[in-house]
Amino acid sequence: MKEVKSRNGHEPEFIQAVQEVAETVIPYIAENKIYNGKNILLRMVEPERLISFRVSWVDDDGEIHVNRGYRIQMNSAIGPYKGGLRFHPSVNASILKFLAFEQVFKNSLTTLPMGGGKGGSDFDPKGKSDDEVMRFCHAFMAELCRHIGPFTDIPAGDIGVGAREIGFLFGMYKKIKNEFTGVLTGKGLSWGGSKIRPEATGYGTVYFAQSMLKTRNENFDGKTVVISGSGNVAQFAAEKVIQLGGKVVTLSDSDGYIYDKDGIDQEKLEFVMDLKNNQRGRISEYVNTYKSAEFHKDEQPWQVKCDIAMPCATQNELQGDDAALLLKNGCICVAEGANMPCTAEAIHTFHEAKILFAPGKASNAGGVATSGLEMSQNSLRISWSREEVDERLKDIMEDIHQSCIEYGMEGDDYCNYVKGANIAGFVKVADAMLAQGVI
Ligand code: NDP
Repeated sequence: MKEVKSRNGHEPEFIQAVQEVAETVIPYIAENKIYNGKNILLRMVEPERLISFRVSWVDDDGEIHVNRGYRIQMNSAIGPYKGGLRFHPSVNASILKFLAFEQVFKNSLTTLPMGGGKGGSDFDPKGKSDDEVMRFCHAFMAELCRHIGPFTDIPAGDIGVGAREIGFLFGMYKKIKNEFTGVLTGKGLSWGGSKIRPEATGYGTVYFAQSMLKTRNENFDGKTVVISGSGNVAQFAAEKVIQLGGKVVTLSDSDGYIYDKDGIDQEKLEFVMDLKNNQRGRISEYVNTYKSAEFHKDEQPWQVKCDIAMPCATQNELQGDDAALLLKNGCICVAEGANMPCTAEAIHTFHEAKILFAPGKASNAGGVATSGLEMSQNSLRISWSREEVDERLKDIMEDIHQSCIEYGMEGDDYCNYVKGANIAGFVKVADAMLAQGVI
């Protein structure tokens, strides 16, 4: 860790992600002789390649803007680089390196042959016209296209990159390369996308939570669920919770959260989906239509009493104090839909209390797993049915849960899913790196 900190001292999110993995994986390395003296973890924390580039584009008034684009190609030991693109003003090398590092373990857990990567830009799509977003995406891809490919690196969406952006990015890749290939996932259904891909991260997080609850003879039926975020992951996590009989009472965005004591049912959720995805509105507008709901400006939903909490917005959104409050209010299960939404202190608090806690690299892996299924369908030039993809997603989430149990049990009755996910993810990548030698 000393070496990691001295090399990456100005990258707090990256150090946080590495620390969490190191704490659980180093004791395992020490116990298993094949890894001794191989410096595997030190090799894994150094990206294979870090690409940074200028993205110049012109807004609707003719003004020229310059943003910074990135692609972090972290590890390709078990397959081509795979991971999303994030467009958000907070994007920097530290955030993308933490996401790329997590992605390596997550992709390994999915059982599919995918290495890890991540990319994006500090461009903010919020408040931009469709034409401006298109010009930015085209300029971004004009450079990125030389570094990616269906056998090299296959990006997907993340915060700020949804179906609209993937369309613009794919269009420019196809034009420059003169190839129609599965170089991006999250594509539209009529041009190579997979059914269930939009739903997969949210649904998968709920499937994983369901597996955890089952170990304690519990389920979602009748449970009160607090969800943060109102983007892709939050929307479909909410949908699956509703289908399983749970009561979702909150959603949020960076302006604050809404609390609907009567529960957000499917009809209200469809209102939210239209508001966020088509009108690109703010979650506060929910209370104009549903008058009994409350909007809490600049606040987080963790103070609301619940049985299950699902942070689905962004990193470090749930801190130690929030964790204590959730426990005080009787929360029994926390499943991360976002990447690293809980701080180290919050995770420690959950572990101390021995409640069910799922780290994002396990619970939100359904998104990239279904991206892997999209890649398979593209290669085979076929399209599986909704039911078929959903069944495969359920099986993958159950397999990931089993892997966590295999490596994460502490005593007879408590599974530390952080430890389980980190070690299970590590073993496959580390063994491939050993086999391939020092490269
Ligand atoms: P979206 O852009 O669709 O939605 C993001 C949501 O989080 C929005 O409601 C947004 O609010 C909110 N948010 C973003 N930044 C902040 C912030 N700094 N403070 C408070 N709220 C914030 O992204 P996704 O739903 O795709 O991604 C959400 C999380 O899930 C991310 O951590 C992502 O890495 C992770 N993830 C996503 C996957 C996917 O398949 N999409 C796969 C695996 C993980 P606002 O509109 O105000 O910005």
